[in-house]
Amino acid sequence: MAFRRGFKSWCEQTALTVRRELGLSESAVLPARTLADHLGVTVWSIQDIPGLPDDTLRMLTSTLGDEWSAVSLIDANEHFIVHNSAHSRARQTSNITHELAHNLLEHDASPVLLVDDQEKILRPHDKQQEDEAAWLTGTLLVPRPAALEINRTKTSKAIMAERYGVSIRLLEYRLNVTGVKYQTRQTNRTR
Ligand SMILES: [Zn+2]
Repeated sequence: MAFRRGFKSWCEQTALTVRRELGLSESAVLPARTLADHLGVTVWSIQDIPGLPDDTLRMLTSTLGDEWSAVSLIDANEHFIVHNSAHSRARQTSNITHELAHNLLEHDASPVLLVDDQEKILRPHDKQQEDEAAWLTGTLLVPRPAALEINRTKTSKAIMAERYGVSIRLLEYRLNVTGVKYQTRQTNRTR
């Protein structure tokens, strides 16, 4: 993954800025719907879409429709995120946050859901944009101060991952890339 210079620190700053704006501490859990409200984005479950045929609804909310996570629907000035409410709460959080990350990154080639017979086409993000959104998602959910706290606490990683809305794999990854694991080892050594 090659990011432009300063991208990762911009992500850390953004994660702290939105928390400050929401009156949350630097290490607080960032609820996806709170962030969506803050950004003026409406979050819908698939059930909220008017006029969706029953069999489509059934398919998208069954295990058959398990692969899809969330899509952005941008219509004139309105931005909706439709997400798969069949997923676990933690996964819903990361799915919605991922779409919000695209929004924060001002990725204009947003994927658009095909609805009705209106002119809305599916335009997937390119690889670079997906990588950026993925990095920002991890940083928004577990910024460095949160990683430090998670690393320090006695509570299990599984519980902390659930709380912060990330997979255990992403949690471990964030602990590594933020350097908090290494830092904690160093501190222990000098004690
Ligand atoms: Zn994406």
